Amino acid sequence: MTATDRRTRIYVLECRVCAKPSGAGRYFCASCGILNTADAKPADAAYAASPRSRLAAFLLDYLIIWLTAGVGWLLWLAIVARRGQSPGKALLGLRVTDRTGRAASARLVWLREFGWDAAVGTLLLVVLLLLGAVAHSLGDLLELWFWLTVLFWLVSFGDAARLLRDADRQSWHDRALGTLVVGGR
Ligand SMILES: [Zn+2]
Repeated sequence: MTATDRRTRIYVLECRVCAKPSGAGRYFCASCGILNTADAKPADAAYAASPRSRLAAFLLDYLIIWLTAGVGWLLWLAIVARRGQSPGKALLGLRVTDRTGRAASARLVWLREFGWDAAVGTLLLVVLLLLGAVAHSLGDLLELWFWLTVLFWLVSFGDAARLLRDADRQSWHDRALGTLVVGGR
């Protein structure tokens, strides 16, 4: 039985593979872990990527950015984004899908890589400025940059920590953008 709510969130009450109750409102079956969507076939079985592989892909992305001064990573992203991947995810066989289980569009991947960070950075900057962190000198500017960086990483850790507790392994930015990260098993 398939149910669809207004937010295009598709979930299956009975798992299409193991036929056990898959957990209402969950994308991945609570029993066997397979991604349950209306149009996915058992042949393209996908499971939630493990937090460990997500962390590894994240670190790989950073390593490639560092090794190629960002340029090589950007060119690589332009190629693999169409398959719902970043370079780090491509190396580890992880994919970003939308809530229906289809590969995320290139636009969604770029939003995921840059839009979220840009939004968080801007929001934090506005908060700091509202708190009176006005830069009058270079020293002030460096201090502002320092606190912006600290807060940005705190938010990023919270974002990543969320997926550890989430049944569907969604971080805050996955929830905001409606994405899932899948891999094989
Ligand atoms: Zn199942």
